[in-house]
Amino acid sequence: MSCRESDIIGWFDAAAESAAAQQTETLRRILVRNHAAEYLQKWLGDVDVQRLEASALESLFASSVPLASHADLEPYIRRIADGETTPLLTQEPITTLSLSSGTTEGRPKYVPFTRHSSETTLQIFKLAAAYRSRMYPTREKGRVLEFIYSSQRSKTKGGITVGTATTHVYASEEFKMKQHETKSYTCSPQEVISSGDYKQSTYCHLLLGIHYAKEVEYVTSTFAYSVVQAFRSFQEVWREICVDIRDGTLSPTRVSIPDVRRAVLEVIRPNPDLASKIEARCQDLEKRDWMGLIPELWPNAKYVYSIMTGSMQPYLSKLSHYAGNLALISADYGSTESWIGVNMEPCSPPDKVVFAVIPTFSYFEFIPLRRQSHDTDDRQSTDDFVEDNPVPLSQVKMGKEYEIVLTTFTGLYRYRLGDVVEVTGFHRNTPKLNFICRRKLILTVNIDKNTEKDLQSVVARGSQILRNTGAELVDFTSHADIGKQPGHYIIYWEIEGEGEVEERLLEECCREMDAAFVDQGYIVSRKCNSIGPLELCIVEKGTFKKIMENFIANGAALSQFKTPRCTSNPVLLRILNVRTIKKFHSTAYAS
Ligand code: AMP
Repeated sequence: MSCRESDIIGWFDAAAESAAAQQTETLRRILVRNHAAEYLQKWLGDVDVQRLEASALESLFASSVPLASHADLEPYIRRIADGETTPLLTQEPITTLSLSSGTTEGRPKYVPFTRHSSETTLQIFKLAAAYRSRMYPTREKGRVLEFIYSSQRSKTKGGITVGTATTHVYASEEFKMKQHETKSYTCSPQEVISSGDYKQSTYCHLLLGIHYAKEVEYVTSTFAYSVVQAFRSFQEVWREICVDIRDGTLSPTRVSIPDVRRAVLEVIRPNPDLASKIEARCQDLEKRDWMGLIPELWPNAKYVYSIMTGSMQPYLSKLSHYAGNLALISADYGSTESWIGVNMEPCSPPDKVVFAVIPTFSYFEFIPLRRQSHDTDDRQSTDDFVEDNPVPLSQVKMGKEYEIVLTTFTGLYRYRLGDVVEVTGFHRNTPKLNFICRRKLILTVNIDKNTEKDLQSVVARGSQILRNTGAELVDFTSHADIGKQPGHYIIYWEIEGEGEVEERLLEECCREMDAAFVDQGYIVSRKCNSIGPLELCIVEKGTFKKIMENFIANGAALSQFKTPRCTSNPVLLRILNVRTIKKFHSTAYAS
């Protein structure tokens, strides 16, 4: 480990040791810096936060400023987007807005992006790289096969730049510094990352990855979905890639954007030896269903690094398949609104990963959540949780679940992120969090309450039945159909090798899923038929790619894309319904 790496780990250890004090200082700095902003003036007036002692500051803040949702801040963000330059959320005018997720219904959700956002991104990248290199040292000046994609940036009518946070980061000076400081260079030039056409970018990422085959030290993307998506497309384009490697060309049918072509052609040279080697390996890999593709083609790669938790879990088995015996390292925890925690233990298997909160990045509060007892029909909370008053980071308890609330340097105050986490322990005095789920309920018809995580478990149970068929679940989503009485759930599946699966088995999958919901509201309603039989719709190949493309066409970037696990968006439902090729219904509910 280099000096620089031990320095950053030392910095984090010290911050974690004094986490409570760091948090009050962070809050104080945010409030001092932005006290003149209209939003803070409204709630805090002219209180001199400099002079308050720590606990008085925290309690004054919590008692004066209300918890907020995105909708509460939206009028301010709208004014910023329209070009108003008076201090609204922050003292410094905001010139950039990011598109955050939570957009399952297709409505963009903008949050402020400032220099602080890129700086903390660089800092967490460096910290995480230091932890990784303790366990898996990489060679200096190695390459990284990085499946990253910028979205198109646009301007609001008030002249504010809008794009995804990842897009802003890739375009920032900090990102260039990251490559320099972590001494790891992305295989693809900037033109490829920001081409705006994910298919062309993916082809180039793959081609350049092969070009630098021996130098690639690890394979990465923001979310695991992009790595899986890229290698699925590799299975289709590898022959063309081999031709391009052999001849030093770039297929004009695959890549047509002039800037991208120029940038890639500047790098590649004819390499018949490499082309023949890759061809032979691919022929071999094809016979074993591409198992171990990554180590086979990138023999010096040490690991695959990507977010594999939360809504990425369903892609983990395909990712392991491609990764063979390579380590899978689950990446850090953050959001467009703020980075939250770092994975300090890269050796943990992806399903055991926890994130140590970085107490200098934002001021974090935690809303204690209790699972509601199932034998009541108490519908006061919007989902299956009952909440208590938020507590500061210093008061969280091990084993308890919380919703995260953020106060950021970028002008979000007591902002409910909507993520549910569990405190699994502490690093020094900062909590380690296990990501549980997005809080938002996704499936509900009446008294039933199911979250994304519940749906994931149900689908995992149902798809077990496909295990020995050679078929594989590619992706899924759902919809609570209340158009007819009784309402019912529809689960959409795209299956690779669907033709191989007997209808009888798919029927069984449908029944199994219906029986796998553990939510009492669902069980009770199914028993009395106030929720109808579960419907399983099998959609044709490529349907979920269409959904992803629809998101991208609406401004999302592939790097940040997460398949919505539930939708009532008419456009998405149309895509799903016109491509449904088989339908199954579970039968009467067994009591
Ligand atoms: P976005 O701001 O659109 O990039 O999405 C941020 C959201 O992605 C977070 O609020 C989480 O719900 C989810 N997320 C981010 N990082 C992780 C992670 N490491 N594990 C699980 N979910 C994550």
